[in-house]
Amino acid sequence: MSEKGETATPKKEKAEKKKKEKGVYTLYKVEKDKIVRLRPTCERCGPGYFMADHGDRYTCGHCGFTRYKHA
Ligand SMILES: [Zn+2]
Repeated sequence: MSEKGETATPKKEKAEKKKKEKGVYTLYKVEKDKIVRLRPTCERCGPGYFMADHGDRYTCGHCGFTRYKHA
């Protein structure tokens, strides 16, 4: 117990602050025992190229392909 600040910052407060995870992990969501893709992949570039969510449509940052969401 030599670490300073441990008592000053309770772990409860730390847990509330959720780190915004960046990277590929944000593109997946694990449900039970299967992995769900949160974003579609580009049909031009193939799987592995995720498309960005732009509200009513998805766009591929790689080739610029735009796909509208189906309501
Ligand atoms: Zn693409």
